[in-house]
Parts: sequence; structure tokens; C-alpha cells
Amino acid sequence: MGFCGKNIVFLSGGKHKATAQRCVDFAFFVLSLYPVRSFFASKVQKRGCMNQITELDKRIIELSDRFEQEVLNLRRAIHENPELSFHEVQTAGLVQRALEGIGLAVKCGIAGTGLIADIHGFKPGRTLLLRADMDALPIQEQNDLPFRSKNDSVMHACGHDVHTANLVGVAKILYELRDSWSGTIRLVFQPAEENGGGGREMIRAGIFG
Ligand SMILES: [Zn+2]
Repeated sequence: MGFCGKNIVFLSGGKHKATAQRCVDFAFFVLSLYPVRSFFASKVQKRGCMNQITELDKRIIELSDRFEQEVLNLRRAIHENPELSFHEVQTAGLVQRALEGIGLAVKCGIAGTGLIADIHGFKPGRTLLLRADMDALPIQEQNDLPFRSKNDSVMHACGHDVHTANLVGVAKILYELRDSWSGTIRLVFQPAEENGGGGREMIRAGIFG
């Protein structure tokens, strides 16, 4: 489970470091938005410091509110249909439909069940890669949640359902805001993080190309 919880794995370096850094800051903010959104919003309201955040921050918050239920629904759909490493067929299908719903061109079947899709900012620039992992663990889920695992002895016990759904949510926000950033954001949904082989296979398949 080496890279669990880390959605960002790669940033192309180079000449436009300042721009790239702004892009990273922006992406980190978006990525961290779902887990901390409620906390952030309540703090902002309590301190009465709404005027200290930028117009872009406000747009991000508004968009995260707009897409929240959809991201929750996707997370629960993935959670109740967990699949083991390199068998993420249904999960990949859910991701593909969600990304195509945004209007993105999706490349499927990379390293088996992996997917990639690019979002282009309105201005040219460097490329930032954001990554989520899609596989579950061989664990029996024991609870009464309405979206508990339907697959015996397979469970999203490591949060990859959240990683995957969140990256779709981030994609939706970044797509809406593509007038606000430069370059390309490549979304990578990899198979088989748990057994450690999916990331390597995705790289071999040329996702940095
Ligand atoms: Zn994991």
C-alpha cells in the first residue's frame, strides 16, 4: 500500500517553474478540498474572513458544492463493487462514464484496466499528472452500511474508492475552471496499487508520453 493517499505522483519540471508551482498549489488545494471542505467552510464563516479568499477560491468552493453529491454517489458505487488488483473492470467502467460525461476523451485498457484522460487549460503550458488507484483488498466487509461491499471477501478498506471518486470530482472542477490555469492536467487511474505492480505497468504503457 506504498503510495496510498497520494494522488499526485509526477510534475514535469523545466523552465516555467513559477507557473508549474502555481499549478501544483492549485491542484493541491483542489485535491484537499473534498476532505477539508466542510471544515474549511465553517472556519471561514466563523472568522468572517470570506473576503480574504480569492474569487478563484470561491469558484472552487461553489463547484465542490455543486459536484459533492455526484462524487459521493460515485464513491459509494465503487465501494459496493470492489475489485481486486488488475480486475477493476466495473470500476474502470464507472470512471470512464464519469469522465466522458465531463466531455473528456478517455483512453481505456492501459495496463489492463487503467485509464487516462487529459484536460487542457485555455493557455498552453506544462503538464501535471494526477493519479488515483482503483483496486480493493481481499478483506471481508463487516458493517450494515447500505453501500457495503457486494463482493464476498473483497473490500475497499484502503480508501481507493475515495481516491478514485475524488479525482473524478477534481477533474470536474478543473474542467470548469480551465480558463484559470495553463497547460495540461493528465488524469491517471491506475490498477493494482495494492500488489505494487499497476503503477509500473502504467509507466511501461507510456503514460508519461
Ligand atoms: Zn492502498
